[in-house]
Amino acid sequence: MSQEHSASEPGDLRTPIVAVLGHVDHGKTSLLDKVRGSAVIEGEAGAITQHIGATAVPLDVVSEVAGSLIDPESFDLPGLLFIDTPGHHSFTTLRSRGGALADIAILVVDVNDGFQPQTEEAIRILQDTQTPFVVAANKIDTIPGWRPHEDAPVQETYEAQSDRVRQQLDEALYELIGELSDHGFSSDLYWRLQNFQNNIGVIPVSAETGEGVPDLLTVLMGLAQRYMKEDMEVDVTGPGAGTVLEVKEEQGFGTTVDVILYDGTVREDDTIVVGGMNETIVTEVRALLKPQPLAEIRTEKRFENVEELSAATGVKIAAPELDDAMAGAPVRVVRDRPLQDVIDEVEAELAEIAVETEEEGVVVKADTLGSLEALANALEEAEIPIMRAEVGDIAPRDVSMATTADEDTHRCILGFNVDVLADAEQRAEQDGVELFESDVIYQLVERYEEHVEAIERQQK
Ligand code: GDP
Repeated sequence: MSQEHSASEPGDLRTPIVAVLGHVDHGKTSLLDKVRGSAVIEGEAGAITQHIGATAVPLDVVSEVAGSLIDPESFDLPGLLFIDTPGHHSFTTLRSRGGALADIAILVVDVNDGFQPQTEEAIRILQDTQTPFVVAANKIDTIPGWRPHEDAPVQETYEAQSDRVRQQLDEALYELIGELSDHGFSSDLYWRLQNFQNNIGVIPVSAETGEGVPDLLTVLMGLAQRYMKEDMEVDVTGPGAGTVLEVKEEQGFGTTVDVILYDGTVREDDTIVVGGMNETIVTEVRALLKPQPLAEIRTEKRFENVEELSAATGVKIAAPELDDAMAGAPVRVVRDRPLQDVIDEVEAELAEIAVETEEEGVVVKADTLGSLEALANALEEAEIPIMRAEVGDIAPRDVSMATTADEDTHRCILGFNVDVLADAEQRAEQDGVELFESDVIYQLVERYEEHVEAIERQQK
């Protein structure tokens, strides 16, 4: 390790990465907004920082928000980094070395609505990736007769309700706890848990009033602290490693990649290796860009140049040759070891995600590598064969490919979170190729299955 970077000592823990999952409309976005909002209100020093694709809430702000619930002295983590795009789509997209990029997760469940299909899907993903999580039982303010006590720990708020009101919430919470138990998790209201080792903490919250948000942050810090310490030897000064969130054209910079840097440090002029659509890219960092503070006020310059950034953070990297970069692919800084080793590592990681295809089957397109994999897994589970699987919008050549399928039921393109190029749409109509698009995996599978049933009915 080089001496010049002694600002962070070896063994320093990096900022844990938090993802938010849950069914549509259960309040993921509102909860993230509330976390950011509380942090902005409490952090007078302007301490929360916007990153590319993520928001960092430093420990001092967490402890201000959490008040008496937290003793900042007992933590040696720098804070929490929240991934800005909620949903399991972004979660599965964001991988790191074969696992989930998020260290911990919040599963948001609407107390009135309980477990729904995307809650199930999220649970499955959390299980598969062995990601520690907490459950935010959201929208408690909608329980009829609920009286908010915004600044108190949610346990006090809960206990201050009338018996009738508390009973209603209890019923909903026990249903949640029952569902979690059906999925093999033991859980309880977080203040009743002795430890979080094998137990999921359930935190009643309201993204509307902010009740329970301090508790949520506290529990997350505790969870992160235990898992970061136990499982992760993190060297924030080592060569950077990250995942491409998005590939974007940026005025003045050409093609850039938005990256979540989950490990190590990246510097201007570093050589990096990036997973590409066709070939692995080796290039040199021209500029590292952070959003300007208050970027929402349309300043002329949206980005601020920095010379060096350490994990975990979101960063925009400007470099030549990035046109072919692939969302969801790994990014690695080449430092202290041979270039070829790094290339091999990136390619091995990409091979791990590669989807198996067959001679006969449907064509699948998705916006990122991770979502492509998630969709392919869902199709495999439903025993639907895949002929081609690629990252990118639906293009005319995908339609041509689909027309080569022998079976009527396979002349289909399933697109997850992608656009259909204009000439592809026309072509599909001419050639009798069905296009299915959605940003919900199970909906794509369902719609395809309905289509197959309709064809089979016709043929009878
Ligand atoms: P997402 O799809 O999971 O991101 O859900 P949103 O955050 O967009 O929320 C869906 C709807 O529920 C919006 O109309 C929100 O205003 C509302 N909502 C979210 N959280 C709460 C809450 O705690 N209380 C109430 N009353 N409404 C909420």
